[in-house]
Amino acid sequence: MRFDVLTLFPESMDRLLSESIIGRARDAGFIQIETINIRDYTENKHKKVDDYPYGGGTGMVMTPQPIYSAWQAVMQPLAHLEKKPYTVYMSPQGNVLNQVTAMHLAEKENLIILCGHYEGVDERILEEIVDEEISIGDYVLTGGELPAMVLIDCVSRLVPGVLPSPDAYSEETHYSGLIEYPQYTRPDVFMERNVPDILLSGHHEHIKKWRFLQMLERTKKKRPDMFERYDANNPLAVLEAYGLLPKKKNRKK
Ligand code: SAM
Repeated sequence: MRFDVLTLFPESMDRLLSESIIGRARDAGFIQIETINIRDYTENKHKKVDDYPYGGGTGMVMTPQPIYSAWQAVMQPLAHLEKKPYTVYMSPQGNVLNQVTAMHLAEKENLIILCGHYEGVDERILEEIVDEEISIGDYVLTGGELPAMVLIDCVSRLVPGVLPSPDAYSEETHYSGLIEYPQYTRPDVFMERNVPDILLSGHHEHIKKWRFLQMLERTKKKRPDMFERYDANNPLAVLEAYGLLPKKKNRKK
């Protein structure tokens, strides 16, 4: 899977996206992440990428031309692909990101991510190029780079090959609609607190059952809202019923 990130601050992303699991997945070729500096595409002789908002008000707005040119530069070599690249704009106004959104996005082959700054981007660029707006939560950040990194990280974990096996994420919090069971490692006693005996028993079936009960219990306690929505037979249907599946916006193409 390939991510192309349109940003004014490519350097701010490079470090985190080169470390640990994501860095190794890039090196091994399971994912590809390119950052594109929007400023390189401005036709303005002063390299300006923002301007005052029409109608007045505080702050600056990112102008459409450099974003559109940067997007086209990414799109053109991919235009022949059967599966059209999907363009998302990181925005506090978008659908709030959850595990189901991540699962849907992990099925794309090419994801183009637009990061805003200042007061955001000119509305016409959203109408012209964006398939979906995604928020990482109901608060406002300075720019779209942190949200884009959050999105890339959680989507990449679901791309085949990035984690050692699907088990590595399918038992994790949110994947099945439940919170994960408690994790322990050495030593078996710490500050007079013992690792539960069952985990030292070597009895895999009992451990599996215990862990599942822990998932139910912990979800009920820590996230009663999730517990109420949980349907053991069909977690995706429950997420859909509660409006947690991502909605696709109608965009002019
Ligand atoms: N004026 C905009 C509004 O009120 O909706 C907020 C602009 S914000 C200061 C600048 C940029 O940060 C946005 O264009 C977006 O790319 C990014 N951003 C801020 N909060 C975000 C969030 N919760 N999720 C995703 N992106 C966010």
